[in-house]
Amino acid sequence: MIQLENVSKTYQTDKVETIALRDINLLINKGEFVSIMGPSGCGKSTLLNLLGLLDRPGEGKVKIAGQELHQWGDKDLAKMRNKTFGFIFQSFHLINDLRVIDNVELPLLYRKTSAKQRRELAEQALASVGLSARMEHYPNQLSGGQQQRVAIARAMVGQPDILLADEPTGNLDSHMGSEVMDILLKLNQQGTTVVMVTHDERHAKQSGRIIRVFDGQLVA
Ligand code: ADP
Ligand code: ADP
Repeated sequence: MIQLENVSKTYQTDKVETIALRDINLLINKGEFVSIMGPSGCGKSTLLNLLGLLDRPGEGKVKIAGQELHQWGDKDLAKMRNKTFGFIFQSFHLINDLRVIDNVELPLLYRKTSAKQRRELAEQALASVGLSARMEHYPNQLSGGQQQRVAIARAMVGQPDILLADEPTGNLDSHMGSEVMDILLKLNQQGTTVVMVTHDERHAKQSGRIIRVFDGQLVA
């Protein structure tokens, strides 16, 4: 489903060059639940950004469903990204002056979806994370765990094939973290491919495969 071939990534800031990833080869199959682990600064977020087409590799190839993307323009890449991926982040990234339902509808604004259909899809997505009763609330009226569930609903509303999660439980206590993890497991059982960066060994063990990164390389 997603394949990285000999991928490297270097960041250039002023005169300092940081090699974030070195010669990565990785295949993620349809339906997998993969956890990415490793110490701070080892390249996990960079790897997730490359997998999700948020960034381009310096060297090597990224393939999605067999298609090579390195020659694609930014517009086509953005289209592919919006169609294929849902993203969730440690810090939720909800818009605080929009109601929950409007946050969840956002990804559909870029598609040819009618207002009525947007509303229906957003309601369904919120129901699937157990938040039907919070649609009219604003994000800061919800607990952290509820906010992350809203973010999951927003990520899933466009029915992406792949969900990419960057430390989705990193800001949550263990109870709320487990609730979020249970939802990710359920989505995976329903067919969504999930790739998650995490520092939580318990959550990683619940996934199907653990990839360990150290100093820009896959070590296990
Ligand atoms: P992790 O997610 O494992 O903490 P990152 O992928 O964020 O690691 O970072 C890998 C390395 O690349 C680190 O040394 C980090 O400082 C560096 N880095 C990440 N993003 C940038 C950037 N935009 N500009 C310069 N260096 C960066
Ligand atoms: P952290 O995991 O350290 O909290 P974030 O989750 O805020 O970091 O962001 C992870 C990476 O994804 C960053 O490089 C950030 O620039 C990028 N990012 C965050 N939100 C978006 C977005 N909506 N669209 C594209 N890139 C994003």
